[in-house]
Amino acid sequence: MAGLNWFWSAMGGKSGRKQKKSRAIVEQAEQIALDIEFSSHEELAAWARQLTKGGKLSDSSEFLAILGVASERTLGLKPFPVQSQAVLRLLEGDVIQMATGEGKTLVGAMAATGFALMGKNVHLITVNDYLASRDAEWMGPLVGFFGLSAAAITESMNREDRREAYKADVVYGSVNEIGFDVLRDQLITSWDDAVQHGADVALVDEADSVLVDEALVPLVLAGNEPGRAPSGRITEIVRRLKEGRDYSVDDDRRNVFLNERGARIVEKALGIDSLYSDEHVGTTLVQVNLALHAQALLVRDIHYIVRDGKVALIDASKGRVADLQRWPDGVQAAVEAKEGLAVTEGGRILDTITLQALMGRYPLVCGMTGTAVEATDQLRQFYDLRVSVIERNQELQRFDEADRVYATMEEKFAAIVKEIAAIHATGQPVLVGTQDVAESEQLAAALRELDIEVNVLNAKNDAEEATIIAEAGDIGRVTVSTQMAGRGTDIKLGGADEKDHDAVVDLGGLAVIGTARHRTARLDNQLRGRAGRQGDPGLSVFFVSLEDDMVAVGGAGEEVTARPEPDGRIDSKRINDWIEHCQRVTEGQLLEIHAQTWKYNKLLADQREIIDERRKNLLDTDQAWQELSERSPKRAVELEAAVDHDVLVQAAREIMLYHLDFGWSEHLALMDDVRESIHLRAIARETPIDEYHRIAVREFKDLAQRAVDEAVGTFDSVLIDAEGAHLEDSGLARPSATWTYMVSDNPLSGAGNSLIKGIGAIFK
Ligand code: ADP
Ligand code: MG
Repeated sequence: MAGLNWFWSAMGGKSGRKQKKSRAIVEQAEQIALDIEFSSHEELAAWARQLTKGGKLSDSSEFLAILGVASERTLGLKPFPVQSQAVLRLLEGDVIQMATGEGKTLVGAMAATGFALMGKNVHLITVNDYLASRDAEWMGPLVGFFGLSAAAITESMNREDRREAYKADVVYGSVNEIGFDVLRDQLITSWDDAVQHGADVALVDEADSVLVDEALVPLVLAGNEPGRAPSGRITEIVRRLKEGRDYSVDDDRRNVFLNERGARIVEKALGIDSLYSDEHVGTTLVQVNLALHAQALLVRDIHYIVRDGKVALIDASKGRVADLQRWPDGVQAAVEAKEGLAVTEGGRILDTITLQALMGRYPLVCGMTGTAVEATDQLRQFYDLRVSVIERNQELQRFDEADRVYATMEEKFAAIVKEIAAIHATGQPVLVGTQDVAESEQLAAALRELDIEVNVLNAKNDAEEATIIAEAGDIGRVTVSTQMAGRGTDIKLGGADEKDHDAVVDLGGLAVIGTARHRTARLDNQLRGRAGRQGDPGLSVFFVSLEDDMVAVGGAGEEVTARPEPDGRIDSKRINDWIEHCQRVTEGQLLEIHAQTWKYNKLLADQREIIDERRKNLLDTDQAWQELSERSPKRAVELEAAVDHDVLVQAAREIMLYHLDFGWSEHLALMDDVRESIHLRAIARETPIDEYHRIAVREFKDLAQRAVDEAVGTFDSVLIDAEGAHLEDSGLARPSATWTYMVSDNPLSGAGNSLIKGIGAIFK
């Protein structure tokens, strides 16, 4: 593989030397293992403790030997030498590349046990709940051998159960569950309410998914809050604007743009200088745009109806009222204002964190994946992580065929169906990787037409899909799956119980078919990796059409000439090379978008850290009481005479935290609006990111002071008695209900990408 050669030469001899050294350590461990085979459980556990005393590993060979024996006794798995090498690299804080089926679950658990013995709390981060539970249960006995505990966090657990689980030495959890717990813990008013207590190490499984592909997915914690509607005045002014003259609408009527004349009318009517000035860009301009959107793009009785004094959306594809749907908050409120209705409650974003920022909270991050080499740049640039390549236990026996290229999407689709049918006719199992759910369904329908039984996986139910994918290697199986579905589940030849193992080996193992090249070779290789585990035979091939997204984007503006065969196939080395070239272009674009988008996120992440420091201080000390009594001495004396000191300290804390958290939430909302309207300023020839930074820094500076001022006001006026501060009575209740969501499940595919694309586009 070209990628690997590049990697080795880039890493030079250093990596080679390290490789040699760790091989020697592992060989020695194998020898020691022979000597300690009959040592008692207690002896081994005590020895391991001895070796890890003081938080450092004093003898790696002895330690690996003990871990190996423990694994054999508790799990029945004797680690392969390559697995022990991988454990060493993880303990040094690298991201290891280790192919699918090489046993990363065991490697991760051994390394986590090592960290835990050194006194570190470990979060073992998985891609979903199902894998968190599976691995905690599977690996629990190994961790337990040393008197340590393992537990899993899953979505269905309540706060009590979570708090208990987080006390374990090794905590398995999906990145969203752990992230949402971080967000909720950032809103507590007493340490007793926290469920987490920090962790020292994040050991990330499928590290490239979490650290690269989904790095900028924001986890969002929201609470109830009245909507922010454009004022009636703005709605009225916008009503006077005329399409074509004051604003324009694009062809598919999805976007509306105020023009200069329109802006001037609004500015004059409101008596302001410029809608695009600092003062108005994040507020008035957003409201004007919302009102304009409601007026120009959303038509009553086509997009919505008004019923019982409420706006109800109409589902365009079904032509029926879609009861539980709303537009994004501002739009909903704007339509209500347009119709002169009462503006309904909306959600307020209380806090948000990207996975990249979440990872930044851990003092040490390490990880494992089948495809790390191609992510070397990102891992270094964004996390300062090194990649270590671990050899395979058994040599790869998979045949990776060259791409089959077709002129059109239609011809490609026909060829894919034909190929699947042909392979299936021999009994060889086929796994097809598609780009999205719609493609999976379309393909499944076409195959069923041919009387081929198909299993379709869409990453909807992880546990159920794991059992289906575990059988994907059985004779005659055809499994169609999107990228994320069934990840982490081993595909054994001849079925999960391997009953027909030899027969499937004779048929050539698992055949993997990709319906398009992904935008990065890394995702292609993840799919290929499903076949050929542990020396199994296997096959992989990708189908590509010149109309594919990746080709259109990566090859934009380039002319290619090719002469297709009658079935549309273009069999030419030159075209195959060109497809590779297109992919390198899209990889470059993704990296650039990641870097740019992170610039927007980084500043807010840093600011959140400052807020968090302040919060910690307020929670740890009686600083809130000190500050408030200093600012309002008379009130403090009054209260001291009537209420217990401890109660007052907690009351002051809650008042202070309320205003701090509220201020932060306002800040997030404002910066969100600024980000949305900032492309308008790009038109005004300013550099958006600089502008964004300037506004963020300025607004943040006032936040802390404003929060204290407002807290003083509350301190003076709110009822404080033996039960504490009665904030709810003054309309200062913390949001009663909170809910969590992710903006997109996978920004590399699907609709969520539009956000990132949108931002990327500014920099073209
Ligand atoms: P990966 O995550 O690297 O794709 P898994 O951790 O899912 O791989 O393991 C794949 C399979 O290999 C599992 O069935 C596991 O039981 C098996 N396995 C792992 N380590 C060993 C070992 N040392 N000896 C035998 N089987 C092993
Ligand atoms: Mg795995």
